[in-house]
Amino acid sequence: MLSDSLQKFLFDETDIRGAIVTLNKSFADLIDDQGYSSAQLQLIAEFSAANILMTGNLKFEGSLILQARGTGPVSLVTTECDEQLNFRGLIDASHDLVDIPFTDVFTDATLAITVEPKQGHRYQGIVSLAENDLAACLQAYFQQSEQLPTWFRFSESDGVVRGIMLQALPAQLCMDKDKREEDWTRICHFASTLSAQEMASLDNETLLHRLYHEEVVRIFDPQACRFHCSCSKERLERALLSMGEPQLREILAEDGEIKTNCHFCQTEYLFNEDDIRQLIQGKSSH
Ligand SMILES: [Zn+2]
Repeated sequence: MLSDSLQKFLFDETDIRGAIVTLNKSFADLIDDQGYSSAQLQLIAEFSAANILMTGNLKFEGSLILQARGTGPVSLVTTECDEQLNFRGLIDASHDLVDIPFTDVFTDATLAITVEPKQGHRYQGIVSLAENDLAACLQAYFQQSEQLPTWFRFSESDGVVRGIMLQALPAQLCMDKDKREEDWTRICHFASTLSAQEMASLDNETLLHRLYHEEVVRIFDPQACRFHCSCSKERLERALLSMGEPQLREILAEDGEIKTNCHFCQTEYLFNEDDIRQLIQGKSSH
């Protein structure tokens, strides 16, 4: 069984790096009890894989959030991953998405990549969703914003999620422009030849050997990744407070308590009368 991990690699004779993410048990944990359709699974799989691959590029502690909101069949898809590779995600959709092309999944949507360092300011990049799949949208984004050619491929099959990222680094080893382009085209082309079956079943070393046995590839130690929800009673308190005091007073008068589930992990949180009163008082005293 392929283990849940992010593994980076480097082509020693060209200015190209890459990473492979594999989600297995962690993906089962993420979709547990969510009742997603097969097309929804595919979408959350791609977002999760992309999110973890991009988080692997962060050079500091913090989180990366990939989130699209729109008015189409999918109103929200969001994933989040921290530097320890703890990730979570969910989809809010009014349609099973089966037979809907990627370009129609979102309407009037923007895809935001938000980076939240533990220290320092958050920053955000906006990705156009005009391309035919998530990989192509991200490729276009990296091309424009970071000017680092970046290539993605994602797959999901029987609960095994795979993602590959290749990225051209600034010229260091090879200064010849034509040679650089030739290397990039060749290395991306080989990765595009992987079959769905190979994506779902080969371990990283076998996969890289099959693609790149003529290149010098340095493979780094894998980093484990896991589904982990960062919800807490305190976080939900903040969400409740954002509803406003009048609404909280109304709920208190009518129901006397608030029972709410975390949408990411289904953990149930109960706020009894005292909890709600304290929330309101805390709010008033600020
Ligand atoms: Zn949770």
